[in-house]
Amino acid sequence: MSRLIDELKKLPGVGTKSAQRFAFHLLRSSDEDAAALADAVRELKASLRLCSICNNVTDVDPCAYCSSPVRNQRLICVVEEPTSIASVERTRNYMGVYHVLHGTLSPLHGVGPDQLRSANLLSRVERGEVDEVILATSPTLEGEATASWLATALRSSALRDHAVKITRIATGVPAGSDIEYADEVTMSRAMEGRREL
Ligand SMILES: [Zn+2]
Repeated sequence: MSRLIDELKKLPGVGTKSAQRFAFHLLRSSDEDAAALADAVRELKASLRLCSICNNVTDVDPCAYCSSPVRNQRLICVVEEPTSIASVERTRNYMGVYHVLHGTLSPLHGVGPDQLRSANLLSRVERGEVDEVILATSPTLEGEATASWLATALRSSALRDHAVKITRIATGVPAGSDIEYADEVTMSRAMEGRREL
């Protein structure tokens, strides 16, 4: 029991109380339900990984976007989480690829530049493989701080003879909200109205 509680406490946002509640719930649930949860966790780790190019969650590496011959591999949209990709895809007029940071800068929660997955993006820029980077982090304090830090990092990685255009999505997405919840019209406008930084 305490082993399970210790493992559950490692999940984000789960404290001792919640972990205990989950553990007792599992103890009372049927063998099938408990086995289904254990299997789902095992299968997730066995069949899914992060794309080595863009950090998207995928069952094949590189992911479907990074290996697509019809997508513009030199246009990269940077998002916070893999789930944010769906918001941009819903607009149906973005034909570039993605880069997933898996978080935003958040000094209060101990998330600094080193905790974000940006190294593979910066090295693509260093190799001159990128024409434009669209910063599509949310218009929250953390999202804005992340966009401005990344813009500086991208600029210093860019080759002298190959400038990279760095753009930020327009604030069609309501300030302080998460782009994950933006509807397709709002998101389309935000992408179209992006401005150069
Ligand atoms: Zn990928």
